[in-house]
Amino acid sequence: MISPEDIEKLIRPDVKAMPAYVPIEPTDVLSRRIDIPEEKVIKLDGNENPYGCSPRVKRALANYPYYNLYPDPEQRELIKALAQYTGISTRNILAGSGSDELIDLILRLFIRPGDKVVNCPPTFGMYPFSTDVCGGKMVSIPRKPDFSIDGAAARKAIDKGARIIFIASPNNPTGNITPKPVILELLSSAAVVVVDEAYYEFSSTTVAPVVQKYANLIVLRTFSKWAGLAGLRVGYGIFPANIVRYLMKIKQPYNVNTAAQVAALESLRDLKYLRGTIKAIVKEKERLISQLTKFSWLKVYPSQANFVLCRVIKGNAGEVHKRLQKKGIFIRYFDTSQLKDCLRISIGKPEQTDVLIASLKEMR
Ligand code: PMP
Repeated sequence: MISPEDIEKLIRPDVKAMPAYVPIEPTDVLSRRIDIPEEKVIKLDGNENPYGCSPRVKRALANYPYYNLYPDPEQRELIKALAQYTGISTRNILAGSGSDELIDLILRLFIRPGDKVVNCPPTFGMYPFSTDVCGGKMVSIPRKPDFSIDGAAARKAIDKGARIIFIASPNNPTGNITPKPVILELLSSAAVVVVDEAYYEFSSTTVAPVVQKYANLIVLRTFSKWAGLAGLRVGYGIFPANIVRYLMKIKQPYNVNTAAQVAALESLRDLKYLRGTIKAIVKEKERLISQLTKFSWLKVYPSQANFVLCRVIKGNAGEVHKRLQKKGIFIRYFDTSQLKDCLRISIGKPEQTDVLIASLKEMR
């Protein structure tokens, strides 16, 4: 009989060797870990929307009658609504189970084992993760000290034969955007340029209108942040039409489930409400930044997204992170070489900001 050890020998060695992605944990797990009731947990670690989804989404989900039927594999109604929202043709749009799935699908479409992908760290961890799963070879072009892209070095890496470059704009976790001229320069190369605009609604900066001009530009968006649908997993991409056709061919037929499609459609019908919560989050970000700037032991980076990155320049960031956790406040702590002593704080409701600031004041 075959043993677990024999099965181990069948597992891809590159998968065995690759580092695992470290995701954030859900509120109930955090609440049990620190023995604080769930409703008291202040969760500022996932760039989620503290206001939740539109109330109309909850009603639409409750009233939808056809959960027994498979969703539309061609996502017709959703794509039509997205075309209207973005001003882009339906031929150029495809939705995914979160933009995470689209990152994976794009890599599966273009990357064979050993093919090169350019990444500009520090940035979103799914790019190297999904590249590893495909057996691709990640070429890292570190961002400059101000976290801007090193455009010349990225271009050189592409010209040495990389097939894809990922640029998150605004970037997670640094919050800065990549200016359009830098992206246009990369678009004159032979690689597919993926501009991940997961935080677009907070920055209002986009390169989506130029997708129609370039055969190699992909823009990714998500409903997770601005629309408060992270738990339902729905994102979309704006692609050259031929890429949409290939992605349609390789995606799972029912990749965006019915609840996600219903929720995304209803969100697009309630833009007035959602624009109100976006405005509240952006306003709260400015207030949080002005409060954080008062701490002489913190360096606060500017942000065009729904989170703020700071560096602890005097003291121990890991300790700050731990002590906040004990009080039920969860933020992200980074300790890589480029993000040494860095903390990323997602924007919460004003009362959550107040508790966070009061707790930080107690630390010194
Ligand atoms: N891109 C970036 C830059 C992100 O920060 C995130 C969320 N952390 C995603 C994509 C993934 O979004 P989704 O929930 O749509 O998979």
